Amino acid sequence: MSPRYPSQTKPVWPLLVLLDRDGVINADSPDYILGADQWQPLPGSIEAIACLSRAGIAVAVCTNQSAIGRGLLSEATLEAIHAQLKEQVIAAGGELAAIYACPHSPEAQCGCRKPAPGLCQQALLDRHVLASDALLIGDSERDLAAAQAIGIPAWLVRTGNGRQTEAGQAPNQPVYDDLADAVKAVLALNQRDT
Ligand SMILES: [Mg+2]
Ligand SMILES: [Zn+2]
Repeated sequence: MSPRYPSQTKPVWPLLVLLDRDGVINADSPDYILGADQWQPLPGSIEAIACLSRAGIAVAVCTNQSAIGRGLLSEATLEAIHAQLKEQVIAAGGELAAIYACPHSPEAQCGCRKPAPGLCQQALLDRHVLASDALLIGDSERDLAAAQAIGIPAWLVRTGNGRQTEAGQAPNQPVYDDLADAVKAVLALNQRDT
């Protein structure tokens, strides 16, 4: 009941949502997404991101993009793809706070390629958010592992690799059909009596 933080303006939880990209926001491809023309948002995903940001919940993307390290994709093209994503979210009435991409190949053994927690850690530091105040939504085991390694709760979606991931998982975390469905659950947590 602190008067300094009126409940109508601050989300209850989470303060920050970290999203995997491929298979969560857009249709994934085994051949990587190598150009803005290959960018296909999944139904409702862009609108879901916009809804979160309008509810005062910051949204950032944490994505492995080893196609750069493999020499298949340039930094400039990745930036063009991400500029398009950001524009789509703005057009839907929201805002994407940041996009964190690991450009390294698996052989580089960096600290940012998921399941390493580096991308998620950077997002927490930049947004000044505690791990327990964040939520990661992903479709692959390595997304969940990256979050859980530093104490970020993680939810699974069934798009992308999600059904395969769900089949290999102990059922100890929430699973939603897609990002739009998961975001509905986030918004329900923050609904208040007015
Ligand atoms: Mg994915
Ligand atoms: Zn990396």
